[in-house]
Amino acid sequence: MSNRRVGIIGAGSSGIAACKVLEERGIPFDCFEKGSDIGGLWRYENDNALGSAYRCLHMNTSRTTAQYASRPMPDDYPDYPHHTQILAYLEDYVQHFGLREKIRFRTEVTRVEHIDGEWEVEWRDTADGTRNECERYAAVLVANGHHWDPRRLDPSLPGTFMGQQIHSHFYRTPDELAGKNVLVVGIGDSAMDIACDTSQVSNMTFLTARRGAWIVPRYLGSTPIDLVGRGLQSRSPVACEVASGALSNIGSFLYARRIKQIQGRPEDRGLPKPDGNLAGGDVTASPEILTRIGYGHVRPKPWISRLDGDSVRFADGSVEHVDVIIYCTGYKISLPFLSDEIIDPANNEVPLYKRVVHPDRPGLYFIGLVDLPGALNPLSEMQSEWVADLLDEKVALPSCARMKKAIAREDRRRRKRFGSAGRRAIHVDFFPYLHALQKERKRRRGDRRGIPVTRVSEEIRLPA
Ligand SMILES: Cc1cc2nc3c(=O)[nH]c(=O)nc-3n(C[C@H](O)[C@H](O)[C@H](O)COP(=O)(O)OP(=O)(O)OC[C@H]3O[C@@H](n4cnc5c(N)ncnc54)[C@H](O)[C@@H]3O)c2cc1C
Repeated sequence: MSNRRVGIIGAGSSGIAACKVLEERGIPFDCFEKGSDIGGLWRYENDNALGSAYRCLHMNTSRTTAQYASRPMPDDYPDYPHHTQILAYLEDYVQHFGLREKIRFRTEVTRVEHIDGEWEVEWRDTADGTRNECERYAAVLVANGHHWDPRRLDPSLPGTFMGQQIHSHFYRTPDELAGKNVLVVGIGDSAMDIACDTSQVSNMTFLTARRGAWIVPRYLGSTPIDLVGRGLQSRSPVACEVASGALSNIGSFLYARRIKQIQGRPEDRGLPKPDGNLAGGDVTASPEILTRIGYGHVRPKPWISRLDGDSVRFADGSVEHVDVIIYCTGYKISLPFLSDEIIDPANNEVPLYKRVVHPDRPGLYFIGLVDLPGALNPLSEMQSEWVADLLDEKVALPSCARMKKAIAREDRRRRKRFGSAGRRAIHVDFFPYLHALQKERKRRRGDRRGIPVTRVSEEIRLPA
């Protein structure tokens, strides 16, 4: 009898979505989770030693966009739930769909190898340390998260610093920063959250970033910002194409004007000027940062020119005494159990078809390996549905050559929009991406519409 069993790596919000879909389809699977419970990033102080949630963390995407399509968040949740509420929601999801028994906790996958058309998965029991076991699977779904391996500044800052330096990955609370001078480096959501948090107790929180970002509020009127203008796009792929095509200039002009009326221009508040416009540039949602700057509790500074003992020298020549530097410089994609020959995430580039399928390694799929100004959960669930369709041989993939062409096309589009090589390497836009996945799910085997597909071949079948 052929091996249909599938291995899932990780039981964070992406991995449990994959478990739920495969369970419903009757596809046998084992899910491996390094920590002793589900939830990944949303489990504060997770014992998997990979967690990066801080005590004040709330979802930066609104409840309605962040819930799985198959299970709404409770009605009494606020628009932007706290991380404890998200964890409770994920626990309810696992309970509701009866997934807990299917997950092997305290089990870290250490090696995944492609052997004789199957995937050999080796794991280590983290409770007793050394025991290695392995098993062969028809396919592997990688859902190990991409916010746990801190990215350092490259090149590092010139000079030496005598104070404390940490990455935001290790930041939890501002308790030990009372009365200190803190320098927060970065302009993303975590940088804003952490600067606002530390500024409640610090003597002064300085904020610096190499590039700028548009600061958007949590609401426009009484509508959560990530729901603005989305109604039509959510219903129709054509509306998405129109929104990103002919009408995009008008749409983004009106949107940008509205945001500027509410928030002002970042550079007028001492923050770096954003590179692009609001539609294509960097956007950070922060309800508080401009107020904290206005109160004088956060002081923006130009970029750092040198670290100097217990001080930091900035590009405008000013020097500030600093006790602690918190680097909110993002994360590297890390796939330590896969050899570079299979996939090398250097520069955060992972060439995958529709950000899910390895084009020339049949049976290797990635769930949740996307970055977006929106919520991941519904996308992870939809990615899993598509992978289940492929495993069930209900739908087909284009040929390897066509997938590679599509990947290269996407890459060119991204570079045109965001510039340099590794920047925003796994970026997707929520609705266009959702519609693209839906389209893939309609690609019947042998269907000649859309991108032509090959006949069923080894490339798209599970190994016998
Ligand atoms: C500070 C912060 C705030 C965020 N806020 C939002 C938000 O508001 N909305 C949003 O949509 N996204 C947000 N994100 C993105 C966030 O990463 C995802 O929403 C979500 O947590 C991703 O889930 P995941 O399952 O892919 O990864 P994770 O939550 O990281 O889970 C991965 C799981 O895989 C396990 N694992 C890893 N390696 C192995 C291995 N070798 N063997 C076995 N198990 C392994 C880990 O233990 C973990 O449980 C935020 C990210 C950060 C850093």
